[in-house]
Order: sequence, then structure tokens, then C-alpha cells
Amino acid sequence: MKMEGKRIILMGPPGGGKGTQARLLQDEFGIVQLSTGDMLRAAVKAGTEIGLKAKAVMEAGQLVSDDLMVGVIKARIAEPDCANGFILDGFPRTIPQAEALDTMLADMNMGLDAVIEVRVPDEMIVERITGRYSCAKCGAGYHDKFQKPKVEGVCDVCGSTEFIRRKDDTAETVETRLEAYHRQTAPLLPYYEERGLLKTIDGAAPIDDVTRQLVDAVAG
Ligand code: ADP
Ligand code: ADP
Ligand code: ZN
Repeated sequence: MKMEGKRIILMGPPGGGKGTQARLLQDEFGIVQLSTGDMLRAAVKAGTEIGLKAKAVMEAGQLVSDDLMVGVIKARIAEPDCANGFILDGFPRTIPQAEALDTMLADMNMGLDAVIEVRVPDEMIVERITGRYSCAKCGAGYHDKFQKPKVEGVCDVCGSTEFIRRKDDTAETVETRLEAYHRQTAPLLPYYEERGLLKTIDGAAPIDDVTRQLVDAVAG
């Protein structure tokens, strides 16, 4: 299988569908999803030192410091399951993070296979984000309009009837998060373009269509 062992970065605005696609690829191809947002939310929930540092920044929709993020991802990439490839979802988000990633991968004799930009216009983002929720038990992602469970109120994956919404998924925070994306993360697009790694797909399409584009972009 052409996806096996790949090291991929998914880039795109908040609510653009990165997590949805990364989870699908993880289930289908066994490439682990490394979501820095999920890692930080777990740290906040557990009340660790990292969680305490990140909580307020995340709720405000701003970016957590590069030092903290680089430390988190460095420890995670060194774990054995990442040897079979990984999909970075939400990292890097700044040029210093991308430079740190290049260095850590080079030190481990690893390289990147592809950087995929999931492009979604800003106008679509408010609805994507304010409609987002997930299963409290297994974390499966849903949307009020675009991705409803097959049976209303019951998780498709685990049968749980408990769901949660993220504290930062509000119309007020969207603007700050989009601004952070355009100002701090978008400069990574030319960074990876110059290295011949960037491919752009249409993230405004339906979920299964985006998956097809993504698999083609990585395999092709
Ligand atoms: P989304 O996919 O909706 O943009 P994430 O789950 O990726 O959200 O991230 C949630 C929050 O966690 C971000 O708004 C930011 O505060 C923090 N965060 C996650 N990844 C990073 C990163 N690489 N650098 C800085 N902050 C991050
Ligand atoms: P990100 O990880 O980039 O922040 P998510 O994958 O969490 O984004 O997607 C945000 C919300 O939009 C979720 O509720 C998800 O169900 C929904 N969604 C994801 N991809 C699509 C799509 N292609 N079309 C419509 N809704 C989508
Ligand atoms: Zn579930």
C-alpha cells in the first residue's frame, strides 16, 4: 500500500477538516494521527504542567508557545508507533515550529513525504466550528449539520450517548483563531512549497471527496 510508512503534514484553517481526515487515514492505513490540539486538551484535562500553561491561551484562540509545542511533539515522534509513519494534524503552526521539526526529523534520519493544504474559505469556517462536537467516550467527531450520527444522539463508533463541545469552538473565538492562522501559519505554505512538498486540495468538498483527494495527493 502506497500510504504505508508515510510522514504527512495536514495544514489548514481551524475547523478545516484536518482532524476528520487524519482519523480516517489512521483507521484505514494505520498511520498514527498526531494532533497537538488533542494532546493539549488531554494535558488540560489531566491538569499537568503543560495543561496549566496552555489552558488560557487555547481558550482565547491564540497559539501556545513554540518551545512548549516543540517539546510535546519531539517526545511523541520518538515513540515506537511513529516508526510506521504519522500524520501531523495541527503542527507545525509557525515557522520556528517547522524549522524545529526539520531538525528533529533530520536527527532521526527521517524526512517528510508530503504537506497537504486542506483549503477552506474563511466564510465556511464559522459554521464548521460552531457545529462541531465529539463523543465524550471515544472522541469520534461529529457536526450538527454535516456529520450527524446514524442514530440521533448515539455515537456510531462506541454507542455512547454523551457528547462534548470544545470550549474554544465559539463564534467569538473563531475570528482570533483565523487571524492566527493567516498571520502565523499561512507563511508555512511557501516554506514547504519551496521544498517541493506542498500539495493543495479542496477542503470545501464533502468529507469522502476530501479523503479521496488526500489519498491521491499523498500516493501520487
Ligand atoms: P483546530 O484544529 O480547531 O484549529 P486544534 O485542536 O488543532 O484546533 O488546536 C486547538 C488549540 O490548541 C489552538 O487554538 C492552539 O491554542 C493550541 N495549539 C494546537 N496546536 C498548536 C501548535 N502547533 N502551536 C501552537 N498552539 C497550538
Ligand atoms: P480541524 O481538525 O481542521 O479543526 P475538524 O476535522 O474537527 O477540523 O472539522 C470541523 C468540523 O467540520 C467537524 O464538526 C467535522 O465533522 C466537520 N467537517 C469536517 N470536514 C468536513 C467537510 N469536508 N464538509 C463538511 N463538514 C466537515
Ligand atoms: Zn463514541
